[in-house]
Amino acid sequence: MSALQGEAATLLHRALASGRLHSAYLLSGPGEAPREAARDFARALVCTAEPAARPCDDCRECRRSHEDEPVELDGAGKRGPLLRHVGDHPDLLWVERGPGDTRVRIAQVRAVQNALRLGANEGGWRAAVIADAEWLNQEAQNALLRLLEEPPPQTCMLLVTASAAGLLATIRSRCQRVVFPPTAPPPLRGEGAAPERRELAARFDQIGDAGLPDLLDWAEEFRGDRVSAAARAHSLLETGSQWLRERVRELVRRGDRDPHPELDAFSALAACRKDLDQRNANPQMVAERALLALHRAAAP
Ligand SMILES: [Zn+2]
Repeated sequence: MSALQGEAATLLHRALASGRLHSAYLLSGPGEAPREAARDFARALVCTAEPAARPCDDCRECRRSHEDEPVELDGAGKRGPLLRHVGDHPDLLWVERGPGDTRVRIAQVRAVQNALRLGANEGGWRAAVIADAEWLNQEAQNALLRLLEEPPPQTCMLLVTASAAGLLATIRSRCQRVVFPPTAPPPLRGEGAAPERRELAARFDQIGDAGLPDLLDWAEEFRGDRVSAAARAHSLLETGSQWLRERVRELVRRGDRDPHPELDAFSALAACRKDLDQRNANPQMVAERALLALHRAAAP
């Protein structure tokens, strides 16, 4: 089943059908949808079926671009390649952050540049997907910008990002934007909630009574390997924001006081997220600040 569905994808399909393609697209939004759409759009570019049916999953090009288990990348090129192909299609390139990397590295952008300097293998369209584009460092963004300024012929660059805010304005302005709508957050409580979210929400329910030492102990859980600590800090911030949102809704419904402390904490968590994503902040420090903010909001 094609992921090229929904409103955002209509734009991509229309481009395919008309043959009027931009040299760069920026697909942004939460979850896996932008990423899947980028992959399917890249596959659709080389597919030989009629535009409305692409990617058909049946033609020779689609069989070559079919992916079972993508190769793991390594931004340093030591343990794995800097870039991979979509399936084993030579004209579809894919770059993302390696599982052990905090950034998409400049060497990866350069590898794309070099690969694109050679002509298309099949003489048709080529595509390069930069997934995790918000994790490009400044240097890599500048290299990417040069590529966008002088796009190789018949080549489509597809940038995928959760939020476009971390990208240079000069990059954003060179891309056709495709915005994917936010999806409803998964529940915090009850049967449908994932155990770790339910557990975290239960801990937040008690946070008003926690003392400073308890909060510092809690923040200790965000030490260690930065990639996994940062991922855990992300889910703390995300779940914390949702917990605050539910609390505000409840306060407003009951009408017994102003939700000011909760709204302050909400802004504090947003600032934490920015520091974590854009300033490479220490996850433990970020967790400390977030937990203190949540404590202040919930303290009796
Ligand atoms: Zn096909």
